[in-house]
Amino acid sequence: MSSMGVFGGTFDPIHYGHLRTAFEMLQALRFDEVRFMPCGNPPHRPTPHAAAELRLKMVQVATEGQRGFVVDDRELQRDGPSYSVDTLSILRVEFPLRPIALIIGMDAFLGLHKWYHWREILQLAHIVVAHRPGWRAPDMGPLGELLTDRGTHRIGDLHQAKSGYIYIHDVTQLEISSTEIRELVAAGRDPRFLMPDSVREVIAQSGCYAAADDATR
Ligand code: ATP
Repeated sequence: MSSMGVFGGTFDPIHYGHLRTAFEMLQALRFDEVRFMPCGNPPHRPTPHAAAELRLKMVQVATEGQRGFVVDDRELQRDGPSYSVDTLSILRVEFPLRPIALIIGMDAFLGLHKWYHWREILQLAHIVVAHRPGWRAPDMGPLGELLTDRGTHRIGDLHQAKSGYIYIHDVTQLEISSTEIRELVAAGRDPRFLMPDSVREVIAQSGCYAAADDATR
């Protein structure tokens, strides 16, 4: 059964760090699709800067034309916070037999034990962790134990089982962050070569990260 990667995030804005990670996972882990899922109101983080429709638009233009890249806006359609465990439960009903892998960066994985009903996530999906610059895998505490218990080095496990494994994958380290991009744009600079030009155009046309916009918050 073909496996699906689910890549959630604020994508405020999406950049090459996200896109390259998703692409390398698609190829190396043999997913037949990676589903980008922009979140509505992130439970663990401050409210996003760009409006939800704009973040969605940026994800759409960024992923256009890449086979296997799919955009799923279901978290934006829902009111209130989007908890990963709820989204995965809904996907599980829709795809009862298909292996599903939640893709997260190592920085996000290190906070997993603070997520809502986090222990249920592995009953619904695998977790694939992308190495990010400056972050180390946990070797103690609840996440260290979870890794000892559920960690695997076999890509095949992500395809043979529907859920339950944690796989850490080295991706090309691109030290790009949405926060830095927003700061750069607010300072009047150009985010060229950090993201596709199509995303840059949405930012320029909408003025969504302009300094004046930030000052009103
Ligand atoms: P910020 O800089 O505002 O924290 P972010 O880019 O880390 O933004 P998200 O858009 O929420 O934030 O990230 C979505 C997912 O992508 C997270 O799991 C995060 O760990 C991962 N991610 C973000 N940037 C990179 C990168 N440069 N390389 C690999 N993974 C990344």
